[in-house]
Amino acid sequence: MNITTETCATPFGTIELRVLAVDEQRAALLRDEANPHAAIYAAKSLGLSRVIELVSTIALDRLLPPDAVVVPHDLVDLTVGRGSTFFVGKGYGFLGQQQVFCPELRRAAQQTLEASPLRSFARGTLAVVDETQVTIDSRWNAQLMAQHGAPAAYLAKELELCYLPLGLLGPHDDLTPLIAEMLAALPADRACPCATAMQFTRERGLIGDDWRSWL
Ligand SMILES: [Zn+2]
Repeated sequence: MNITTETCATPFGTIELRVLAVDEQRAALLRDEANPHAAIYAAKSLGLSRVIELVSTIALDRLLPPDAVVVPHDLVDLTVGRGSTFFVGKGYGFLGQQQVFCPELRRAAQQTLEASPLRSFARGTLAVVDETQVTIDSRWNAQLMAQHGAPAAYLAKELELCYLPLGLLGPHDDLTPLIAEMLAALPADRACPCATAMQFTRERGLIGDDWRSWL
């Protein structure tokens, strides 16, 4: 396991991106990232295909213990004006968000957490809000609230990157070794829909090979 910090200049600002490497696998490691546009762009620039974000969360479900790690399966985006696409005014059409987070990363996270001594939950709907001093309408059926996770999830998909937030309840020790284990369990070649998320747009001839020209 090896961690480096890469300084990347992007159209969205310069960012210090943490990159975790385990054997041949590499992933960007975010923590409550305030500039997801720059982070996702930087990850793509560095040739990474996977982004994992540790997200500080507040439990909305009283059954969640105060020290758990949650692998969310769904997202309710209650943020306003964050800029949820790289493709402003491009008219590429709508990218499906039925599986808003990468299923391959979710599976690896679930298995690694299950085998660890940490208390974890394999599902949960994450409500992303601009400030946590809000009440979340129960009709959203969200178990967790956080300020991060969106728009990173959509931005990653637009650049065909895999993205997963890990919801942290309460303080935690450094989870990097756990994430390294998770990375080691992943296949070298991605078989998830994220890897070809823009295929339909590509086939319609709307985008070319150079992803930078997509924006
Ligand atoms: Zn994926």
